[in-house]
Amino acid sequence: MDYIKHNLDEVLGAINNSANKANVNPKNITLIGVTKTVDIPIIEEAIRLGVTHVGENKPQELVRKYEVIGDKVKWHLIGSLQTNKVKYIIDKADMIHSLDRISLCEEINKRAKSINKVMDCLVQVNISREDSKHGLFKEDVMDFVKTVSSKYKNIKINGIMTMAPYVDSPEDVRIYFKEIKNMSKEIEKLNLENVEMKYLSMGMSNDYKIAIEEGANMVRVGTSIFGKRNYMK
Ligand SMILES: *Cc1c(COP(=O)(O)O)cnc(C)c1O
Repeated sequence: MDYIKHNLDEVLGAINNSANKANVNPKNITLIGVTKTVDIPIIEEAIRLGVTHVGENKPQELVRKYEVIGDKVKWHLIGSLQTNKVKYIIDKADMIHSLDRISLCEEINKRAKSINKVMDCLVQVNISREDSKHGLFKEDVMDFVKTVSSKYKNIKINGIMTMAPYVDSPEDVRIYFKEIKNMSKEIEKLNLENVEMKYLSMGMSNDYKIAIEEGANMVRVGTSIFGKRNYMK
């Protein structure tokens, strides 16, 4: 498992570098180790090496791993979430990154309320408008945030999550990250109850360095820590 330490050191070094470029304290960048398809012993090793946040894109996987690993790490649900799966993760996830429709808010709010929790969420924005991606189009974000703030008291919006398109040159994603950053400033100005633009969750293995330079303070890194995923298992 030595490769985990090697990879993690490299990622942490790169985060440091990019944070310095952006004039922010590297300590304020949250690294989420994306553990989808990664086996529990490997995740435990990453935790031993200092990973404190993990991300899963499937609710059932989050639950399965949570039951073994527990709450010594923070759990992030980073993938699209079906309404009927909310009940499984509501008491386990520390943050849901994929808030993207009112029906989902309705269910999260109901389930969170029943256990006296205010669920931390990020609004997912489909900034590149690709059909393959989930999330709100930018023109719908303001109204959505206003509605959530006024109607769903057991949801706290903590920022925005986005996935940049896959491009040949990582430089080409910069404009998308900039747009998200500007959007978050606009939302902050509204001064809404239960809405705080504390986190910008953007940047994956391919583009987290650039994302940090453009204002990301939460990066979701899988491959660069755990290696290429094997979906066949
Ligand atoms: C898989 C995944 C990641 C991590 O992707 P890598 O390229 O392996 O770093 C980040 N965010 C989401 C939503 C994912 O599904």
